[in-house]
Amino acid sequence: MTEEKKRCAKRVYNGSFRGSLCSKPYFATEDGGDWCKVHAPSTIKAKNEKREALWAKQRKQREAGYAIGDAQRAVIDVAKGWISDPGDELNIRALKRAIQDLIDAENKAKAL
Ligand SMILES: [Zn+2]
Repeated sequence: MTEEKKRCAKRVYNGSFRGSLCSKPYFATEDGGDWCKVHAPSTIKAKNEKREALWAKQRKQREAGYAIGDAQRAVIDVAKGWISDPGDELNIRALKRAIQDLIDAENKAKAL
């Protein structure tokens, strides 16, 4: 009985028309096929999940940055109203709230 050496079933394209089977060492049998460490479905899945987690984190950071920008513009708008009548209680309250919103947006971004 001769045992055939297991090898990765991934066909890699290296310039030839049909390509050739991957020559990296055998790693595991998964989903009905034999694979090297690079082409194993579990490796590819883990890599994709890692990349998607990174993208989700970057998206959150970008959104937090936009929220800071929005809050900064709100402070400027409200401050323009306040400067026209600095003693007005409504203007003071609006400015305090806008500043608090900006601080909250910055703290939220820092926490990411
Ligand atoms: Zn392979």
